[in-house]
Amino acid sequence: MVARGGPIGGAQPSRRVTADRTLSRVSELDASPTEPVLEWDTPLFRMARAQYEQALPYAGVSEMVAERLSFPERAVIVSVPLRRDDGSIEIFPGYRVQHSTVLGPTKGGIRYDPEVSLGECAALATWMTWKCALLRLPYGGAKGGIRCDPHALSRREVEGLTRRFTSELIRDFGPQTDIPAPDMATNEQTMAWMMDTYSMQSGYAVPEVVTGKPISIGGSVFRREATGAGVVMVAEQAARRIGYELAGRSCVVQGFGNVGGVAATELHDRGALVVAVSDVSGGVHSEGGLDVPALHAYVAEHDSLAGYDRCERITNEQLLELPCDVLVLAAREDQLTSANADRVHASLVVEGANGPTTIEADEILGERGIPVVPDILTNAGGVTVSYFEWVQDLGRLFWDRDEIRRKLSDKMGDALDRVYSVSVDKGITLRQAAMVAAIREVAAALEARGIYP
Ligand code: GLU
Repeated sequence: MVARGGPIGGAQPSRRVTADRTLSRVSELDASPTEPVLEWDTPLFRMARAQYEQALPYAGVSEMVAERLSFPERAVIVSVPLRRDDGSIEIFPGYRVQHSTVLGPTKGGIRYDPEVSLGECAALATWMTWKCALLRLPYGGAKGGIRCDPHALSRREVEGLTRRFTSELIRDFGPQTDIPAPDMATNEQTMAWMMDTYSMQSGYAVPEVVTGKPISIGGSVFRREATGAGVVMVAEQAARRIGYELAGRSCVVQGFGNVGGVAATELHDRGALVVAVSDVSGGVHSEGGLDVPALHAYVAEHDSLAGYDRCERITNEQLLELPCDVLVLAAREDQLTSANADRVHASLVVEGANGPTTIEADEILGERGIPVVPDILTNAGGVTVSYFEWVQDLGRLFWDRDEIRRKLSDKMGDALDRVYSVSVDKGITLRQAAMVAAIREVAAALEARGIYP
């Protein structure tokens, strides 16, 4: 489909996407040569693309729309020099991919991780477009980051890297163009450094250029907890649709960072039994339910779960295969694959991370009748409260915690209802239904705007 030296796509404006065409395109992707045909064309981007291709026949959009939305609009690569604490200079690759500006400025996190690449950012930016559209936020998707090992850097080094990365992309970021937020290994402090660097160049404070900032500089209450809290709001509704309440049910949470850690607390607060959690150091397990507040206290003191010996230690692989009611995937992409999906023993899988279930695993879980509530719905609480933060910053008028929690719950509930109704209507999976609902939002706007010029 994609030829070197020629156009990267093409479509008849009025033709609708049909199932036949789409299936052939998915298999084309599978069969494509190992040599990448476009710079972002990596396995993760193909996974995002294949999910899109699987939903297209049900979305009823024109070929023009289908083709245009299958590519990120812009991708920027920068090299970021850093003076290390020992005086040497090291240069790190940095990326920002903006997938779609059809609905408004682009929005999405910045991650610091050894796996960061153009393809990873392109996949994650694409998912951000669907996530924002599904929640009816006036944004398109973006994602960026620096390929580095953040744990090998001092605080001063992380600050230097953040400020220089922001400077390299100063013309790309902006409250009306592209608004970063935290993602893996970045946090409120990272956003404060980005906001300060941008504001110094502007000559005045511009809080609305990033979200997920400290409250003291225009951050929103409840933003830090929003992703994890949203995950559990969705899990609660999805469990009800299967026919049970979370109280007394066994839950496994992969990941104990900003998403998994908060999700574990929210589950615990609802009376669920959190029987296992994990982080990069491995997992902890207790059939009777873990003491979640004690785990948080331990991590606050020791930085990770390493060395926690008040219960059984398990590996990350074992954790994913534990019998439980709800399995929350809140670590990173590519966790349930064709290698382990047939050993998942949960009645419900909820995706707190982006892209944790591969296309093959989706199929296996589907055949086994295990519903997967997809990332673009489940973890959308973060970007939704980011949107509230941006609106509050632009209006210089701030809301309280109860109001934000209520607004979040309304928006998540509304999106979930739409996903379930498309799923039932069309007889498709929750992921396909979420994608269909999202694609339709962007498609309607793109049809109205048309292709410029
Ligand atoms: N990084 C988060 C995500 O993947 C939040 C993005 C945002 O708040 O803009 O959804």
